[in-house]
Amino acid sequence: MSVTPTAPTTPDPDHADAEQRYRQRLLDRIPRGLLIGGVWRSSADDKVVTVENPATGASLGPVASATVADGDAALTAATDVANTWKATPPRERGEILRRAFELLTDRAEDFATLMTLEMGKPLPQARAEVTYGAEFLRWYAEEAVRIDGRWSTAPDGRTRLLTMRQGVGPVLAITPWNFPLAMGTRKIGPALAAGCTMVIKPAIQTPLTMLALADLLTEAGVPAGVVNVITTASSSTVIAPLISDARLRKLTFTGSTPVGKALIRQSADQVLRVSMELGGNAPFLVFADADLDAAVEGAMLAKMRNMGEACTAANRFLVHESVASEFGRLLAARMEQEIVGDGLRPEVTVGPLIDNEQRSKVAELVTDAVDRGAQILTGGDAIEGAGYFYSPTVLTDIAPDTALLREEIFGPVAPITTFTSDAQAIGLANDTEYGLAAYAFTDHIDHAIAVSEALDFGMVGLNQGIVSNAAAPFGGMKQSGFGREGGPEGIEEYLETKYVGISTRPGL
Ligand code: NAP
Repeated sequence: MSVTPTAPTTPDPDHADAEQRYRQRLLDRIPRGLLIGGVWRSSADDKVVTVENPATGASLGPVASATVADGDAALTAATDVANTWKATPPRERGEILRRAFELLTDRAEDFATLMTLEMGKPLPQARAEVTYGAEFLRWYAEEAVRIDGRWSTAPDGRTRLLTMRQGVGPVLAITPWNFPLAMGTRKIGPALAAGCTMVIKPAIQTPLTMLALADLLTEAGVPAGVVNVITTASSSTVIAPLISDARLRKLTFTGSTPVGKALIRQSADQVLRVSMELGGNAPFLVFADADLDAAVEGAMLAKMRNMGEACTAANRFLVHESVASEFGRLLAARMEQEIVGDGLRPEVTVGPLIDNEQRSKVAELVTDAVDRGAQILTGGDAIEGAGYFYSPTVLTDIAPDTALLREEIFGPVAPITTFTSDAQAIGLANDTEYGLAAYAFTDHIDHAIAVSEALDFGMVGLNQGIVSNAAAPFGGMKQSGFGREGGPEGIEEYLETKYVGISTRPGL
């Protein structure tokens, strides 16, 4: 089955109806089962779970809820074809990925619409995610044929050292709901290029995009069993036995730090190779010499992309006291231009949060900050009615020990605090257990370099509010995780290094 209806492009007398029909056809064509060994099937106990549109609360239909037995069957399928896939010529693996890139690009509008439906992000942002997500398939299509090794002479002059890199083996990939496509392709691209087979478990809030992608991968030529997808309402029960199964050789996880820690503990028994892309608490530094208009535009991108539901989202705005009130005024004015609503509507720039729990968490963080003396420049409230909307918010005068500055907000809330010196700015920025992304705005290159070097974060956006790029090594330090996704580094996560020591005959 494929997800291929084309969005209506010509003006329709009843445009809304045509759009509605297009979306329904799109939803109708998504396989709703588990993909195991190339076959779509229902779960062993026939249980399903319903997917919801967070903008309306409407049902988007059911998906299968896998059991422990289904998880085991998926790993068996991935194991059965592991050697065949590893032995498939790199060019062939690359060409399959390239076809997947092309199919995804051709169907960008379908995938964007699906993501907006199940996750809520406005359509233009969903389209941007398709472009970003597809790029990992193209990048690793190219990397598949560049897995090299080394030939060297040992210091004793007699032994030769042949160093080779081989696919690590079956991979379990667990992905979150906030980027339903790109968090998958960021793992699928390098894993398949390296010759690894996979079991993928998407988040239960947003499984449809991954199911549609799995269908597309099959159409692109990924052989049966190489990519298996299980959706489940019982993640911990289904995943734990897979992690303790000796056939599994690698776990790659993107999600929250608490769940990541639990999975690292579970992985210890097998000494499983693990990559962790976890939570963040990104500082956004605005120095006195920054171009304030550029800083505000960067702030909007770093804060408001995905409604603030990004691991890289600016979580704390640290602004030099000489420009703080002007920055706050400009940022609040810019926030007030945002249009909140159903992301399918073309004028909307801020969609709903993923669910009521997430919205309540954001509301509690803001209420707590206000109770401790924070001032609201704009926003500060949940929006009544269907869907889980929260108004774009700017706060100042935040007490230093406030939870809002310590926890991942994951919502459209910008807390501004001030600093008076570079040393204080860097001290505040680094004062977190997280170390994923940081942003800095300054107009002097020497200043920019010194600040970049002093920040304890895996990624720094210098005078720009976005760090994601398929050609760059995405990842964090400290409790934001380890391992990198994207760029030449991304494929290393799926490769083992082996060397062969070769004795030679001296004297010839
Ligand atoms: P989450 O609650 O940690 O869930 C992530 C994934 O793990 C989901 O598929 C979830 O399945 C699964 N899961 C949850 N508990 C599990 C368990 N005990 N055993 C096995 N699997 C389990 O995170 P989220 O709320 O989906 O995503 C938001 C978080 O992801 C944020 O902290 C964000 O910063 C982080 N994130 C990090 C990056 C990065 O690259 N560093 C990128 C994006 C997001 P269910 O859906 O079934 O619960």
